[in-house]
Amino acid sequence: MEPDPLLPLFAPLTSLRGIGPTLGSLLARVAGGARVLDLLFHLPESYVDRRVRSTIAEARPGPVVTLAVEVVRHDPPANARQPWKVLVTDGTGFAELVFFKFAREGQMPPGAKLLVSGKADRFGDTLSLPHPDHVVPADHPERLPAIEPVWPLTAGLWPRQVRAALAQALVALPELAEWHDPVLLRRQRWPGFAEALRALQAPETLPDALPRARLAYDELLAGQVALAVVRGRVRARAGRALAGDGTLRARALARFGYALTAAQRAALAEIDADLAAPRRMLRLLQGDVGSGKTVVALLAMLRAVEAGAQAALMAPTEVLAKQHHRTLSALSPVPVALLTGAVKGKERARLLRGLADGSVPIVVGTHALFQEAVAYHDLGLAVIDEQHRFGVAQRLLLGEKGRESDVLVMTATPIPRTLLLTQWGEMDVSRLAEKPPGRGAVRTTVHSLSTLPDLLEAVARKLDEGAQVYWVCPLVAESEVLDFAAAEARFAALRARFGATVALAHGRQEPAARDAALADFAAGRARLLVATTVVEVGVDVPAASVMVIEHAERFGLAQLHQLRGRVGRGAAASFCLLLHDDGITDTARRRLLLLRDTEDGFVIADEDFRLRGGGDVLGTRQAGQPGFRLADPVLHEGLLHMAHRDAAVLTQKDPGLTGPRGRAVRTLLRLFGQWEQMRTLLAG
Ligand code: ADP
Ligand code: MG
Repeated sequence: MEPDPLLPLFAPLTSLRGIGPTLGSLLARVAGGARVLDLLFHLPESYVDRRVRSTIAEARPGPVVTLAVEVVRHDPPANARQPWKVLVTDGTGFAELVFFKFAREGQMPPGAKLLVSGKADRFGDTLSLPHPDHVVPADHPERLPAIEPVWPLTAGLWPRQVRAALAQALVALPELAEWHDPVLLRRQRWPGFAEALRALQAPETLPDALPRARLAYDELLAGQVALAVVRGRVRARAGRALAGDGTLRARALARFGYALTAAQRAALAEIDADLAAPRRMLRLLQGDVGSGKTVVALLAMLRAVEAGAQAALMAPTEVLAKQHHRTLSALSPVPVALLTGAVKGKERARLLRGLADGSVPIVVGTHALFQEAVAYHDLGLAVIDEQHRFGVAQRLLLGEKGRESDVLVMTATPIPRTLLLTQWGEMDVSRLAEKPPGRGAVRTTVHSLSTLPDLLEAVARKLDEGAQVYWVCPLVAESEVLDFAAAEARFAALRARFGATVALAHGRQEPAARDAALADFAAGRARLLVATTVVEVGVDVPAASVMVIEHAERFGLAQLHQLRGRVGRGAAASFCLLLHDDGITDTARRRLLLLRDTEDGFVIADEDFRLRGGGDVLGTRQAGQPGFRLADPVLHEGLLHMAHRDAAVLTQKDPGLTGPRGRAVRTLLRLFGQWEQMRTLLAG
């Protein structure tokens, strides 16, 4: 067997000379991993060009000034708190090199000619260089690095340590078989993988955009190939054709009492085509809260039932599961069962029997639906609500219960186009861009928290007019306890002001108390609900027409948009008040104003993506969805689309990645950590 060329790259950093556990862990921290490869991927954020020489008279204060000077004299400190100063000149003026620790008097005697390079300040006529980065003899200019990468560092880690470690890592870097199409490389004028890393990490000239683009494309292609392979496998697996006679659907539509919107009809047509085709459906149904996804999902489930199969809908929380159960029971012409962790004993046993013998056609629940103990007679369609937190592999496993079940994922989070490609690339997408008629606009306003007393007056008036009010307090994972305390304090204050009609719902409560609060609010007994998270306000209360969000700056835009969707569901004019800290940044304020100015979720998502650089666009941390190390999805969006097409063509020609390019691409997948995931996914 040939030795694995990647082994030196997967070796720990401490396998490099001169890197012990301490330095190793500092490097691992900045690089985001402890392998040699992680360090190689730790790219500089900028470069210092020391080749540009200046005179003392013309030097401007700035991060880097390089001067050729002669030492005039040393001014030792008068006491321990003062620095050591070395006065130098180049004939155009004088400059001071300033050292707080100095032991190099011998290296720079008066008259010595030096090249000095470093940060410069100017005080009056005097140019001052505090601790210059480099002081080398003028007759050894080669000791002054011409182009110096600036890596992100951490306390205790110095550039020269990173440079030295990288020098070794670059030696360990093997020449790998090229995985890109040679035509593409020529057209883009891209260097090879190793060459690109050398150009960025140990540059001899200032790098242009090409090596960085090459590496970004490597990373993007790895992700796209992984998704394409998964997609190909899923599609290749025989699914089943689910066709119905439309009788159940017709009965449901009669119960709705309204006609479907054009957007709903179009989405349903796409779903029907998938269901009817003898292969598995993997479809994402995107649409704002209230755009009518649940109704579409029900009609899809009824088609599965018409075809003699079962359907299951999974919600992320118990509260949402119950709510879906209520909604669907009211609209469905066939019984809808509920399975959550709370369903126990005889009732649970009966339900499990019904699922196993097929007498239960539709079931709604939490992830309990897909636990091992639950067996289905014939699960034809699995619908998953709001599961953007799932990784690709998990999403596919959900369909495994029925082996060939079709999968429909519903999400109210408008996902920017770019993220659709990187995170949902294995799925087809339907969008509900149009809202059902009769839904009022939500008037959104932005306020600083210091105006709270006035806002409370406004809220009081709304309550008097009969409105119901959501009051959302943010939850920041780092200090959950404080967050709950803040919500409870707000609840106490509002209760003192508005009395017993104020209810509180948060994740630290006894479930019974929380459910009671939510039920009171839903029934209109409570008029103002203080809640902590999106999930808890996931209830559907059409009479609620005012939404107050405290510390709105702590939420993602998409998340705020989703929260806002909780009001404006009824006929009444609705309001959303975004309260922010008095000291927020301009950018943070601009984000909130964007929300004030548009209600189009897709516009908000794309804009948020641009404003935040795509880091955390969904407002929640993305478990199992690794971010990018080399690519910037905003900067490299064009490359992403290219990689998407490239991956599609490649995997069509060579689905098993066994041809010459395919084998090189396997190496690429390993470099970017995609191979293991795919292997486990495709096993069996
Ligand atoms: P989502 O799941 O996207 O949040 P729902 O399916 O729950 O949206 O629909 C929101 C509300 O709009 C529900 O009360 C539903 O009955 C109603 N609705 C859905 N589709 C239509 C339609 N075509 N016309 C009128 N009302 C609709
Ligand atoms: Mg099918």
